[in-house]
Amino acid sequence: MLVTDLIRRKRDGGALTEDEIACFVAGLADESIPAEQVSALAMAIFLNSMSADETAHLTMRMASSGTVLDWGTEGLDGPVVDKHSTGGVGDKVSFILAPIAAACGLYVPMISGRGLGHTGGTTDKAESIPGYDATPGFERFRKVVREAGCAIIGQTADLAPADRRLYAIRDVTATVESIPLITASILSKKIAAGLDALVMDIKLGNGAFMRTGEHARELADSIIATARKAGLVTHALITDMNQCLGTTAGNALEVAEAVRFLRNDSRDERLDEVVMALAAEMLLVAGLAKDRAVARHHAAEALTSGRAAEVFGRMVAGLGGPGDFVAGCERYLPAAPVRSPVHAEVAGYVEGVDTFALGNTIIELGGGRRRLGERLDLSVGLAELAPIGAAVGGGRPLAVVHARTNDDAERAADAIRRAIRTGPDRPAPVAPWTATIA
Ligand code: URA
Repeated sequence: MLVTDLIRRKRDGGALTEDEIACFVAGLADESIPAEQVSALAMAIFLNSMSADETAHLTMRMASSGTVLDWGTEGLDGPVVDKHSTGGVGDKVSFILAPIAAACGLYVPMISGRGLGHTGGTTDKAESIPGYDATPGFERFRKVVREAGCAIIGQTADLAPADRRLYAIRDVTATVESIPLITASILSKKIAAGLDALVMDIKLGNGAFMRTGEHARELADSIIATARKAGLVTHALITDMNQCLGTTAGNALEVAEAVRFLRNDSRDERLDEVVMALAAEMLLVAGLAKDRAVARHHAAEALTSGRAAEVFGRMVAGLGGPGDFVAGCERYLPAAPVRSPVHAEVAGYVEGVDTFALGNTIIELGGGRRRLGERLDLSVGLAELAPIGAAVGGGRPLAVVHARTNDDAERAADAIRRAIRTGPDRPAPVAPWTATIA
């Protein structure tokens, strides 16, 4: 098989056969197909899409390109369920949700991604915890899931290795926002993780890969239909990404916000709503609650009682992080040397946010990748972000920049003033989520 033939056919709008997809995935995983040909095929798929059958073949081949986990031998006394987000800015939901779900009786082996395009990645965020092993061997991963109830890790070398390589190449070639590629990327990891059920958080808005309700719905349908072919029961929620989720964006800053949330110190309202809606859906899809109201009640109790925080602490310690991380995360997380508030030029209300631009501002600060394999500065980012509808001016900034240098902070301040639009009238509140699709 000549890879150029596949690229040419896709480029010209044709379809690939199951065998051709199998060869492509094998070449991805063993690196016999060079990055330039992978990029060209990814761009051809981005431009001309894939049929439902092609998407399913790509998903299944990528899922079986490495180890496929089987939790049946672990003697777990609850269902194995996960959630995955399509990616956003300030999305620290996993760090709160996985422990809540585990505290409610689920087992959550969460295999997350690194930053992708302008969006942050849970794996990078987790690595801001000193000592935390985000790519452990399977033995340690299984042990932490068994003993703590959840483990948030990144893709290891043996889990869906074909996706790991394709994901890294898409990240730097502007080929992320493709429904078949996102479907195959997410589901290959989830199928390889051996789940009983999955809840998808499909982000919609100017900080998401899906910018219209129609595209978000199309992605939800593609993921649910492909997952069904693989026997994986999946529900999806469409949640708002027209502004950052919560008050921080940037790796260590988001981990700190998640810990404050778990400690019940402070809970951003929109983040709370998204977490609770997803937690309820996880309990429902797993059959651990008879309806969403009961499921929400269980999830809220797991959080306010402190049980979720305990689970998080056990997970962090089990993966090599500090034993007292929940109580003292501020002592452990890396901190940027420069902290600088950014004020609006004129006092008023936040009318709208260019969330994509804020994501790129974090990349410019050094918190996201511009090149394959680039090392990140996990300390930088944005804090105290003013949400849509907030009154800014006087003492209330648009955000506080955490940066390596004053020059970086100044450049970020200009970008933030351009990205956060203010006006004299308070806008109507935006709902944090819009639809559940089962
Ligand atoms: N998350 C993934 O794992 N893959 C994508 O392509 C997008 C979001």
